Amino acid sequence: MADEAQQDGKVDGDENSVADKPPQDPLIVKDDIFYRISKDDESGVTEFLTKDKKLVNSLDEHGMTPLQHAAYKGNKSMCQMLFDYGADVNGGRHNNGYTALHFAALSGNAYLCQMMLQQGAHPSVTNSVNRTAAQMAAFVGNHHCVSTINSFVDFKDIEYFTTPSAPDKKPKLDIVVARSLHRLIMDVNFHPVKVAITVRKNAVLVEHIPQLYKVLEEMSEREMKKSGSASEIVSFKLHLLSFILKTLHKDTNGDVNKFDDFIKSLIRPKTGQYLCEALEVLLRRGVRDFRFIETTIMQQLVTNLTHTKVCEDPGAWSIICSVVNGQKGFRDNDPCATCGEERGAKKCSRCHYDAYCDQECQRLHWFVHKRYCKDKAREYNAKMVAAALEQQAEGTSQEQALPVDEKEKKTL
Ligand SMILES: [Zn+2]
Ligand SMILES: [Zn+2]
Repeated sequence: MADEAQQDGKVDGDENSVADKPPQDPLIVKDDIFYRISKDDESGVTEFLTKDKKLVNSLDEHGMTPLQHAAYKGNKSMCQMLFDYGADVNGGRHNNGYTALHFAALSGNAYLCQMMLQQGAHPSVTNSVNRTAAQMAAFVGNHHCVSTINSFVDFKDIEYFTTPSAPDKKPKLDIVVARSLHRLIMDVNFHPVKVAITVRKNAVLVEHIPQLYKVLEEMSEREMKKSGSASEIVSFKLHLLSFILKTLHKDTNGDVNKFDDFIKSLIRPKTGQYLCEALEVLLRRGVRDFRFIETTIMQQLVTNLTHTKVCEDPGAWSIICSVVNGQKGFRDNDPCATCGEERGAKKCSRCHYDAYCDQECQRLHWFVHKRYCKDKAREYNAKMVAAALEQQAEGTSQEQALPVDEKEKKTL
């Protein structure tokens, strides 16, 4: 072992050290921290760092840090370990200006993006082709990363409101509700129905609705005042959340027993329509109420909404989603017909027409869905029968096309 290491020109007194172990791949001549990261070898990386902590922010020949390498590989535990050793999330001098957050966004791992942001990554930094991490994620179709980056709000921004401005004053936000509010903000789905369902499930949120919408509106304004790092998207989302909660409170008086009526009013379409007018009106009012009219996001929203009539495809919710989360070329899944959730929604087992994320959403939508479930089930079954017959016919015609001896072989 030691002889081999000497032949490689790597001499180190410690028999078990990483430097004594030459890389297995004959094409790799250099064994360093970057090589170990490329192999997802966490203990190898730890050994390097135990010997020299400064390596954690070292650069390879492309100006990349170990963290950027681990982020590109989408390796969560490796990234966490590098942070534990003091990795600088905004470090590195990559040739094309990519940051660790850019690499996390390209890896497609939304949790990793959140981790980078929690460590203080700057989401507005652009690379040499003038793209932010979220824009790069959108470019390669990593939509969940786009939404995660665009929705990110530091918990400190919420905590700020839990301290009173003077000793004799009450804080604007009770500390008990701060974490729940953070989770509500970080949810990439801020469809009004989803917001109402989330609030209803959490008694602390229900109890604090007026505090929540006041704080959210103030957060929206503070976001726009952040010099250099202000995010129009975050500011708009905070405003819309505030507007939804304010409407929910006004319409229900904070009484959870009336939440069902509120939700149903937002999913009840007029006969012959698919989109619900009350939802369209709520969202359009919410957009109109955003006071930063000079922002790009507002101009995009106004342009798109004025070109679409109320209840006309694609609908206000789709327009808002595409502006906030980036335009999608395709849908990964059919969203939940009740709350707009895109992940994990399953189709109605009878008609396969509408999808729902759970039984609660299916129950809430039933008063609408029952109008057409039977008809759609009949259509679905007819389609299935037609497809089966077509497949059978294809099989027969292929058989007819076979030469005689082939046919004989098949019958044997
Ligand atoms: Zn749902
Ligand atoms: Zn159905």
